[in-house]
Amino acid sequence: MHNLKPLTDFIRSTFQEPTDFIPLHDPRFIGNEKKYLNECIDSNFVSSVGEFVGRFEKMCAEYTGAKYAVAAMNGTAALHIALQLSGVERGDEVITQALTFIATANAISYTGAHPVFLDVDRETMGLSPAAVEAWLKENVELREVSPSPLAPSPLFPFNKKTGRRISACVPMHTFGHPVKIDELLQVLDKYNIPLIEDAAESLGSYYKGKHTGTFGKFGILSFNGNKVITTGGGGMILTNDEQLAKKAKHLTTQAKVPHAWEFVHDHVGYNYRLTNVNAALGCAQMESLDYLLSLKRKLAEQYIAYFAQSEFQFFTEPLDCKANYWLNVILTKDKAQQTELLQYTNNNGVMTRPIWELMNRLPMFSHCQTDSLENSIWFADRVVNIPSSAIIPGYRKS
Ligand SMILES: *Cc1c(COP(=O)(O)O)cnc(C)c1O
Repeated sequence: MHNLKPLTDFIRSTFQEPTDFIPLHDPRFIGNEKKYLNECIDSNFVSSVGEFVGRFEKMCAEYTGAKYAVAAMNGTAALHIALQLSGVERGDEVITQALTFIATANAISYTGAHPVFLDVDRETMGLSPAAVEAWLKENVELREVSPSPLAPSPLFPFNKKTGRRISACVPMHTFGHPVKIDELLQVLDKYNIPLIEDAAESLGSYYKGKHTGTFGKFGILSFNGNKVITTGGGGMILTNDEQLAKKAKHLTTQAKVPHAWEFVHDHVGYNYRLTNVNAALGCAQMESLDYLLSLKRKLAEQYIAYFAQSEFQFFTEPLDCKANYWLNVILTKDKAQQTELLQYTNNNGVMTRPIWELMNRLPMFSHCQTDSLENSIWFADRVVNIPSSAIIPGYRKS
């Protein structure tokens, strides 16, 4: 392809990295990271107790507008707890998208539920409300469960073919581009299905002015090393429900009944707590978040200008949304061109990669229900992620 060299040269000159290799996404430590880590060590509070955990939770709640934020050791653990506290049980079905990172499907599997993989929208790369509605219409009916004279029993959605209950829906805001969350909520409300947002990739992304991860029963964030900001490893459970927030804290910390010296636990809990060291990093990173997001938006604008003149299509934020432009996306015309682009750039020191293999194509999920997945397959054959780190003049250059 004649335009691969200019493209590679453009990315190289934009990043001006000192080495011959431009990574896909690198963390940036430009604030109080070392100061706060030193405070942890000096205070001896490096593990499960310490002031940074609470501070980090408060910062995340304030930033996203969620009433409560509960820290966890990573985003996958956060999603596991959110699913469990939404009432997802062994043998249930949980709707999600086929086009997602493995953690979404794994967390569903940890609960013993069966993921159902539905299609995404072309405008968002995220779960399609129309696809969800069509699948529910065809497969699901509302049934009354255990009628009781004391309480009018709620109607639960059941899959007519498998006989299983549908107990949650987990859309994912792909690469930070928000799904059509209003439309999705309307569909889910008709069927009494709780919404849990996998907002692991969308810290700093908004749908109609409201932060992603705050629309449903729960939302979760990730602070893995390749995300917009990082705590080394970390996650956050977002909710507006005080009782659920308390339960989330309880379950992530071994379900220990608070007591000055006794060790009593009232539930099978998890050691999913975030350590004070990780939270210290998180506090410093949160202080830099808006600056880093502004740099990422600037880079996206440079890409938009460049790709306007190119045969590749740069994926821009959906209507009514503000994306964090976590990982930038270009679309090739077909799979052959995608392969060619991946080969050339990776052979020439510019890291690029395709989107994840569709979940239903992986051996452990190949038996799961899907719909046509027309758009998911279309994206799988075309998406290429290009370098997306925030560009800070002079950062780590010697
Ligand atoms: C990163 C990510 C997660 C969580 O990952 P952790 O590494 O466990 O923090 C979950 N879902 C998606 C879509 C992700 O990209």
